[in-house]
Amino acid sequence: LNASQARSISGWGRYPRLKAQSLTPDKASHIRECLDGRGELIVHALGRSYGDSALNSRVLLTRRLNHVLDFDPQRGLVECESGVSLAELIEAFLPRGWFLGTTPGTRFVSVGGAIAADVHGKNHHQAGCFSQSVLSFKLMLPSGEVITCSPLENAEIFRATCGGMGLTGVILSARLKLSPLSSAYIDERIIKTRNLEETFAYFQASHEWPYSVAWLDCLARGEDMGRSLLMLGRPARDGGLHLPRKKGLVLPVDLPRWTFNQATVGLFNYLYYHLQRAPVRKRVSHLLDYFYPLDSIGHWNKMYGRRGFTQYQFVIPKEASYQGLRSVLDRISQAGLGSFLVVLKLLGPANDNCLSFPLEGYTLALDFQIQGRLFPLLEELDRVVLDHGGRIYLAKDVRMSRQTFRQGYPRWAEFTALRERLGAGAKLASLQSKRLGV
Ligand SMILES: Cc1cc2nc3c(=O)[nH]c(=O)nc-3n(C[C@H](O)[C@H](O)[C@H](O)COP(=O)(O)OP(=O)(O)OC[C@H]3O[C@@H](n4cnc5c(N)ncnc54)[C@H](O)[C@@H]3O)c2cc1C
Repeated sequence: LNASQARSISGWGRYPRLKAQSLTPDKASHIRECLDGRGELIVHALGRSYGDSALNSRVLLTRRLNHVLDFDPQRGLVECESGVSLAELIEAFLPRGWFLGTTPGTRFVSVGGAIAADVHGKNHHQAGCFSQSVLSFKLMLPSGEVITCSPLENAEIFRATCGGMGLTGVILSARLKLSPLSSAYIDERIIKTRNLEETFAYFQASHEWPYSVAWLDCLARGEDMGRSLLMLGRPARDGGLHLPRKKGLVLPVDLPRWTFNQATVGLFNYLYYHLQRAPVRKRVSHLLDYFYPLDSIGHWNKMYGRRGFTQYQFVIPKEASYQGLRSVLDRISQAGLGSFLVVLKLLGPANDNCLSFPLEGYTLALDFQIQGRLFPLLEELDRVVLDHGGRIYLAKDVRMSRQTFRQGYPRWAEFTALRERLGAGAKLASLQSKRLGV
């Protein structure tokens, strides 16, 4: 068991940062010792959650829980420790014709982090969340006892742990079902839409495409509001199963604060949208480029400068989405706080997990540089989201209030009661869980 001196850690948004003592166990008995130790802790895996859900003054790192334990090549079943990353699974199993049933927009997340946030991908409308491809996992409860959880065994704890942000126990290992694949390529169709109405209409009409996501010009106003490039994808038949050997770029330094202002963001959005001239474009992309466009730039989170950034991601039920999104976009453009990276997705139905984020409706994610006038704007947006029956994503959150959380996640009390029964309160906590009162 490696216990380090306190050092500075943060989530992907690099805000907030705090000094934490990190513990790096490599087996169950060591994790038990960590839980027995004095004070609370939280698991910090690959730190790709944006805010404070993996932060506390004691963190348990899972990087030494990095072994693949078993693989059934006939059925695509893999068992691995929770610190194994999705990138490592892809590297090992894509060449053998297997891919993840669900993947978020970066492959540098751990299996434990993907379960704890119950992440969703571009195929949520067809495949649901990550937990839908989890057959079972081993969980160390705060008491040190290890149990197996699946949709049938310890089902209540399974449903609370998937999406439960590390607050029910430490996931030690998981059994996952991979999906068969005959090519590492994606047939893409990119549709240029003129406004939000058209963007919604194309999303609705593209339900049979397994993958869909739109980049949205968040500063376009009036008749152009909600214009986008909708990127549809389906697995190609040809092209082979190889992984590219190219090296990506690395952003070596923080960019200065002035890189982001309404003029630069507006210009970027304008050019990006108009770069595609045709209303529809087809192309074939390697799946690593299609699913993980940002992974090719190492440390791209330095782009937002030293103060860091946050991602605001919310979902609004389908019937209220149009009004809700217009209202949000209006307020953002009035505040003059634009964002380069604005991603829209039509999600499928919610699952039965206590705190999983997705529900049937549109989700929008926007990156914002941290600055004084941001937080009042986000509070205003929270009210719009809640008034339209929506909620904010915990894996991106760094500042939502307890009331906003409780209104958005009506099963919070059930979750808190389970935590009490498990004796988790005194052992497992993050800055986020304390702020939200779970
Ligand atoms: C570029 C980018 C794109 C993204 N795209 C998407 C997306 O498309 N869809 C989506 O849903 N999310 C997306 N995310 C968010 C990301 O998938 C989640 O935040 C994920 O949880 C990060 O995993 P991690 O291994 O980095 O975990 P951390 O960030 O280190 O931890 C996240 C949470 O998981 C808990 N946790 C981690 N491991 C364990 C364990 N072994 N046992 C118990 N709890 C554990 C932590 O305590 C914490 O609460 C994106 C993030 C980035 C940076």
